[in-house]
Amino acid sequence: MTTHEYDVVVVGAGTSGCYAAATVARAGYDVVVVERKTESEAGHIACGDALKGADAFPEAIPKSKIQSAFTNTDVDHGRFEIPQEDTVLDIPVPGELAVIDRWEYGRLIIEGANEAGAEFHYDTVVQDVMQADDGQVAGVRGKRTGDVVTYDADVVVDAAGSLSILQDKADLERATFDTNVNYSQFCSAYREIVEVDEPVEWSDALVFKPTERAAGYLWYFPRTETEINAGLGFQMTEEPMQLVEDLKRDLRSRPEFQGAEVTDKLGAALPTRRPYDSAVAPGFVAVGDAAGHVNPTTGGGIAGAAYAGKYAAEQAIDAIEDGDVGEAALWEYNERVMEHFGGRYAALDVYNILSTAVDVDDLMGLMAALPGENLAEALYEGSTSFGLRLKLKAAIKSFGYWGQIYDFYKTKNVADDLLSHYEDYPSSPEAFEMWQSRRDDIMEDVYATTGADPKY
Ligand SMILES: Cc1cc2nc3c(=O)[nH]c(=O)nc-3n(C[C@H](O)[C@H](O)[C@H](O)COP(=O)(O)OP(=O)(O)OC[C@H]3O[C@@H](n4cnc5c(N)ncnc54)[C@H](O)[C@@H]3O)c2cc1C
Repeated sequence: MTTHEYDVVVVGAGTSGCYAAATVARAGYDVVVVERKTESEAGHIACGDALKGADAFPEAIPKSKIQSAFTNTDVDHGRFEIPQEDTVLDIPVPGELAVIDRWEYGRLIIEGANEAGAEFHYDTVVQDVMQADDGQVAGVRGKRTGDVVTYDADVVVDAAGSLSILQDKADLERATFDTNVNYSQFCSAYREIVEVDEPVEWSDALVFKPTERAAGYLWYFPRTETEINAGLGFQMTEEPMQLVEDLKRDLRSRPEFQGAEVTDKLGAALPTRRPYDSAVAPGFVAVGDAAGHVNPTTGGGIAGAAYAGKYAAEQAIDAIEDGDVGEAALWEYNERVMEHFGGRYAALDVYNILSTAVDVDDLMGLMAALPGENLAEALYEGSTSFGLRLKLKAAIKSFGYWGQIYDFYKTKNVADDLLSHYEDYPSSPEAFEMWQSRRDDIMEDVYATTGADPKY
């Protein structure tokens, strides 16, 4: 058995892990990233390759380090194909957007964290979390090529992605840490990298299309004019889809993919839920997918993961400096996540919940009827407002969907209530239970308004 000692051990060399490790290392502390993949495979992660907010990434890994992986920066809108309505909607995407070569980006952030001073241990599968009798997390245990290896650390950062094994193994019942997590709050997704001979006409757009069955969508994201990330996903509350077959069928039906060559295939689960209510426990912080830090309507999780990594690392450093890594000492991390994007994602989750309760054809009809600017806001901001002129325009276009529009308005109102409740996220663990209880009351309104089955 080999034992290592670090100030901070980060499990997972994805976006959240690399940004956390780079931040810790830059502050002069000892940090290791433990990754189950080999050095050459690390950074190869299933993704749609769309990077939103590319202009404002945490500085621990300089933007200049990752920029060469941004293969398409000309994308400025979403193209929603709605076959049920025989319509294509062009909807602006706010903020800077890039389609990236995800593996190259993955390699570059590892390099960036390494240059900042973080160590990387590859081929090491973490299998258990070490805890003191009082529940304080003290490190992790794993296996590297058959040998048991342990890591003692003041703080463990769980950056191991969706359905992290660390949370199965750790006993977090005594902490505020959110354990109300199950597979139905996730989406199963699969993507291929497809090369075509002729440039596609929509190389400045992210193409979305609803799947025929189930609450899911197909996407076509252009890495370049001739290299396309094509994928699809479905909510795990629904009947499973044959992801590979369904994607193949759609590819066959599109003339631009005739004779195309598939160069890479990968699939994975991603959280499409609200962020964890609390992602801290004594000596333990979860970040990125391991804490539900994904926009639940778009599936975009890279930017949230990077910022969660930064915030967790900064809090861990403060706690270590103060000689107390207890829950209260790590709490500000929860607050920063909720303030930056967590509240917004929780409000967006309301629309996700609505989508499980309405007929997909109605939803598509409604989308085709609403003004694009408002849809863009609803997709990214968690709230939208309709001016009178737009209301009238929408009403005329949407004749036939007025019932659904009314339901949408009611849903928007409860989503706004939720958003403002997250703005009052407590500043210490003491007020947490009361905050959660009021939030659960608002969720009751969400289920009553949408008619959806409870998600949590
Ligand atoms: C198909 C698909 C498409 C997506 N498309 C987009 C998109 O277009 N844009 C976007 O912004 N987001 C997208 N996402 C979401 C995005 O990929 C994630 O939100 C983001 O990668 C989260 O980063 P992370 O660091 O938290 O986790 P991950 O990137 O999943 O990294 C986790 C790391 O932990 C390692 N690990 C796991 N378990 C262990 C263990 N026991 N021991 C050691 N190491 C371990 C893994 O090997 C991996 O390297 C997509 C996700 C999927 C699945």
